[in-house]
Amino acid sequence: MCLRQLLQSSQLQRAWRAAFLKHVQGRHPGAWRWTHSGGGPYRAVIFDMGGVLLPSPGRVAAEWEVQNHIPSGTIVKALISGGENGPWMKFMRAEITTEDFLQEFGRLCSEISKTSVPVDSFFSLLTSERVAKQFPVMTEAITQIRAKGLQTAVLSNNFYLPNGKSFLPLDRKQFDVVVESCLEGVCKPDPRMYKLCLERLGRQPSESIFLDDLGPNLKAAASLGIHTIKVDDPETAVKELETLLGFPLRMAVPNTRPVRKTMEIPKDALEKYLKDLLGIQPTGPLELLQFDHGQSNPTYYVKLANHQLVLRKKPPGTLLPSAHAVEREFRIMKALGNAGVPVPKVLDLCEDSSVVGTPFYLMEYCPGRIYKDPSLPGLEPSQRRAIYTAMNRVLCKIHSVDLKAAGLEDYGKHGDYLARQVQTWIKQYRASETSTIPAMERLIEWLPLHLPRQQRTTVVHGDFRLDNLLFHPETAEVLAVLDWELSTLGDPLADVAYNCLAHYLPSGFPIQPGLSDCDLTELGIPTAEDYFRMYCLHMGIPPIENWNFYMAFSFFRIAAILQGVYKRSLTGQASSATAKQTGKLTEFMSNLAWDFAIKEGFQIFKEMPATKPLMRSHHTWSLLRTPGTRSYVTSTDSSPAHASKGALIFSPEGLPHRVRELYQKLKEFMERHVYPAEPELQRHQVSAERWTPSPLVEDLKEKAKAEGLWNLFLPLETDPEKKYGAGLTNMEYAHLCEVMGTSLYAPEIFNCSAPDTGNMELLVRYGTEEQKARWLIPLLEGKARSCFAMTEPQVASSDATNIESSIREEDGFYVINGHKWWITGGHGEVLFEQVCVPKENIILGPGRGFEIAQGRLGPGRIHHCMRLIGCSERALALMKARVKSRVAFGKPLVEQGTVLADIALSRVEIEQARLLVLKAAHVMDVVGNKAAALDIAMIKMVAPSMASRVIDRAIQAFGAAGLSSNYPLAQFFAGARALRFADGPDEVHRAAVAKMELKHHS
Ligand SMILES: Cc1cc2nc3c(=O)[nH]c(=O)nc-3n(C[C@H](O)[C@H](O)[C@H](O)COP(=O)(O)OP(=O)(O)OC[C@H]3O[C@@H](n4cnc5c(N)ncnc54)[C@H](O)[C@@H]3O)c2cc1C
Repeated sequence: MCLRQLLQSSQLQRAWRAAFLKHVQGRHPGAWRWTHSGGGPYRAVIFDMGGVLLPSPGRVAAEWEVQNHIPSGTIVKALISGGENGPWMKFMRAEITTEDFLQEFGRLCSEISKTSVPVDSFFSLLTSERVAKQFPVMTEAITQIRAKGLQTAVLSNNFYLPNGKSFLPLDRKQFDVVVESCLEGVCKPDPRMYKLCLERLGRQPSESIFLDDLGPNLKAAASLGIHTIKVDDPETAVKELETLLGFPLRMAVPNTRPVRKTMEIPKDALEKYLKDLLGIQPTGPLELLQFDHGQSNPTYYVKLANHQLVLRKKPPGTLLPSAHAVEREFRIMKALGNAGVPVPKVLDLCEDSSVVGTPFYLMEYCPGRIYKDPSLPGLEPSQRRAIYTAMNRVLCKIHSVDLKAAGLEDYGKHGDYLARQVQTWIKQYRASETSTIPAMERLIEWLPLHLPRQQRTTVVHGDFRLDNLLFHPETAEVLAVLDWELSTLGDPLADVAYNCLAHYLPSGFPIQPGLSDCDLTELGIPTAEDYFRMYCLHMGIPPIENWNFYMAFSFFRIAAILQGVYKRSLTGQASSATAKQTGKLTEFMSNLAWDFAIKEGFQIFKEMPATKPLMRSHHTWSLLRTPGTRSYVTSTDSSPAHASKGALIFSPEGLPHRVRELYQKLKEFMERHVYPAEPELQRHQVSAERWTPSPLVEDLKEKAKAEGLWNLFLPLETDPEKKYGAGLTNMEYAHLCEVMGTSLYAPEIFNCSAPDTGNMELLVRYGTEEQKARWLIPLLEGKARSCFAMTEPQVASSDATNIESSIREEDGFYVINGHKWWITGGHGEVLFEQVCVPKENIILGPGRGFEIAQGRLGPGRIHHCMRLIGCSERALALMKARVKSRVAFGKPLVEQGTVLADIALSRVEIEQARLLVLKAAHVMDVVGNKAAALDIAMIKMVAPSMASRVIDRAIQAFGAAGLSSNYPLAQFFAGARALRFADGPDEVHRAAVAKMELKHHS
């Protein structure tokens, strides 16, 4: 497909259909496994309808499910459900009305997908004019079959429409016999159907060929002695049919038609021009056809004597200066042809508008084969691999062209290609924006900030995809690369990424069929990652680390284009249903683009070398002290050489490079996104919507993912392979967690909030694979929240042995009864009444709760303390700013001695507490959670009351304003105050510290 065409077409479907029709697609009497059978004894060809003459319901369903966010495969499962007695088959036999069918079918789909399924909309799509169109290749084949005197028939499991007519969007004149199940009351694979058809045709089974896409239908036909062809792809099936019949079924020049009235060109002038150009004196007339595609630049098939040519011209009328640049197409193809890139051979560029009305160029007509479906139906795995390898190699060839030698140095601007492209497509998108699409907004912000630093400049094709390649009919050789309309100079990796788009689209996708639901290993097709690797290998360049960026950009570009098409469809003649479908595609593409932005973010920490705290003993020493900065390191060894290994790092400056980068990024994110969002988040908290997730938080979560600022909490010890998290040590995380603590809203935005963190860690450690898939993954993705329900109103819950809730086994379930309150995730009060939990949901096993609780109360135990340091720092910073500007009794507050004393006290207390937090984290890292019990208890005792005091002083300095919602201080205070018992009462921690002190130091 040519992107510019898509941009300029008024209806999406017209554009994507045009994508499949190529001016140089020719017919060569040969293909993979082509054999000339020399004909056969066949007198009739019988066609199934859906899946053979028209798209199958399954294929239509795949597209519809994507657009309507219905779990993929729902419709197909419902279609086959119940077999003979399922609603679909009953409908086919006209035993139930359309209304009853839709009701029963809808119920079934909802049961299967566990969501409400609007089957009416699927049914409308299936029977719409847009979808229910006969494949042109089949129309051609039927014409040829009948021209040879053979009979044709349709044998279809079909249904009645609500208007009382059967659904048959075919020209009946093409067929001698039409047999429909709803008229006969019998369905395939019942042999009666086939016999009925043969009888009406007056043919023997052995004289007939039957084409169907479903195995059981074919099997039944074969058992009667009918020759069968399985249809996976109409093109391949027609080829097989050609082999059996022994005569061609496709037109001499496929995808052409008589020249449209508005597109006529003066034949005489052209003939004269060609005679001069080719130096010939033909006897016969000039033959002129128009290719179906080419709305942007009309394209013609020209035959004069034995010369077959393709003429491509600008459209008539006034044009934008840079559009329809056929001169550029001619130039690039000529230069690349000379440089050894396979392109159609160009013959001449005629800029004289007097010949055919506009400038045009001529190239040789090039017969070959175009693969429209990237899953390459009908080929062997090794052949598919060969096709993909050839595509990869030819792309490398394009990108290896020496610009100077090819005279293409001025074919486009050098450098900053992606920056320019991103801005161009943002501008295009804004110009056609109809409503806010969250993923587009995020991408518009994200893409310019994540442009690759290193970009090469080569020729780029701009629309490089499988169906723009013309292959040799019998081998995997690329004969020509087509559609150079969008070519320029730019970053070659954009072409590679664009080439992989199909990998992420479902097979039934409307713009182009994709591969995302195909088993690539079975097909023999390389994955997108393999394809990138193959490219690097062929180019001799190191692996591409940021290819997710390029994928995000490619999908963003497509989304921006689709939005343009959508806008035009709203004002054009497209039906509202079509316009709506197109609108959904924009959103779908932008979400895919955003998924890649997130993957790019995740890659940041996946590639981060882990700091392994291996040492088992520790002591403290000061490494460096720069006035005004926190720069200390302690090491488990007294030599600075070991400072990075197992060291207690007191200041962010001492963190390993990648962690420091994360730290910096986190701070920037807080400044850019979190602090400015606080007022709105606070409003949401007091609004009627406070019990539903804030859309702003959800949006910020997406942004955090794309920056790699996600799940940073999961410690290396729990997740040594960094399968789920960033693989930071507790001590490294402490520095980052402190930054998150500066805003009450931040932890959730980075998926680092309690109690999810503890619960996720618990699932990583103890969950089965099934439990992980069901609960851990949605939690890690930020798509679910969790709770920890212990506290009960009627008992003192700081003592867990008081808990009164009950759990008992009953009929394969655990039945829970209990009353809980203060359950975080809304601090809700929850009544459990006869709650049945399937037995397989229990983690680790009955009676092992204490073991788990010990595990759960690992690092998560001190996250609150880490955050309280940040919270205190922010309170102190606010206080310092306030007292400098506020004047009382003739001088700024800061000049009051008591204020100075308060500031000093706060600084000292924060520093003390921080050291203790870092030490606890460090000890957990180097000697384990259990051995760190004393340090954990000490900091839990210290941090909440320290924070309460620091915040309290800040409130005091603010006066009444400190209690208002204009500043976060009152909320900070409430939070810190609650943690003096919510994370275990101070008294309990004090008791624990004292007990350990007495035990170890008596
Ligand atoms: C903001 C917030 C969030 C919360 N989130 C959750 C949650 O997600 N899940 C959950 O299960 N609970 C949660 N809680 C509840 C919290 O865990 C409990 O309040 C806490 O465990 C104390 O239990 P209690 O309220 O029953 O107090 P009690 O057990 O009645 O204790 C009251 C007080 O008695 C004193 N005391 C208790 N034991 C001793 C002792 N050994 N020595 C001396 N004095 C003692 C302490 O001063 C203590 O504060 C939350 C509470 C708050 C405020």
